[in-house]
Amino acid sequence: MKQRTPLIAANWKMHKTGPEAVEAAEKLGKLCRDIHDVDVMIAPSFLSLPLVSQALKRMNSHIHTAAQNLYFEDQGAFTGEISGPMIQAAGAEYVLIGHSERRQFFGDTDKIINRKIHAAIRARLTPVLCVGETEAQRDEDKTFFVLDKQISDGVKGLDSDMPEELILAYEPVWAIGTGKSAGTEQIAQVHVFLRSLLEKHFSREFAENTRILYGGSVKPDTINALMDVEDVDGVLVGGASLEPETFIQIIGFRK
Ligand code: PEP
Repeated sequence: MKQRTPLIAANWKMHKTGPEAVEAAEKLGKLCRDIHDVDVMIAPSFLSLPLVSQALKRMNSHIHTAAQNLYFEDQGAFTGEISGPMIQAAGAEYVLIGHSERRQFFGDTDKIINRKIHAAIRARLTPVLCVGETEAQRDEDKTFFVLDKQISDGVKGLDSDMPEELILAYEPVWAIGTGKSAGTEQIAQVHVFLRSLLEKHFSREFAENTRILYGGSVKPDTINALMDVEDVDGVLVGGASLEPETFIQIIGFRK
């Protein structure tokens, strides 16, 4: 039996205006009012983040909020960027770091991702470190090599700057937004491998306590099989998290 509380997380990406995000968050807050054995998190856009956090607080919801990214400096002349302290002040507790869309479209390298993780910890935000291989890397049998590098580079220096909590999200790039999900056996293998890397870089206890999420075209009809996988401690959901009526079916997966 798993000791780790499952985390069901929504990545709303660049969807929803402020009022739309608040409406969806309030609807979701009502729908999951009686669900207490699962942690729920929403990552809206930066502009919606304080509005959603405040709306959820007003209704005493236990839904947590996250930013989808952050800049690695705390303040300064960095036009257009958002820092950890700003995210913390907006009411978020978590921040996604290294999402494949950031790596692919915005030049986030493992080195930058590592700086962002340190910045998140300084701001007392829990980093959700996203890792995953591309289709070409999988075809070339480089999956474990790629994941090893993403984790090793990503958590560099954390032994002396230990996060209270770290969350990993395994998101094979070829499964994000494509409708193709990785198979449960494949996911099981990767999650065991990721936990062994956590043990190597931190400790057995830290590895055992760290939640490892799966992400990539998770839908209401695939959630039960995914959550049955021993080392899957939750999911990160894009498309199927946008409608509260759909997302609640994922949150309410069969235990
Ligand atoms: C994501 O953006 O992290 C994601 C997994 O998206 P989707 O569920 O749409 O594949």
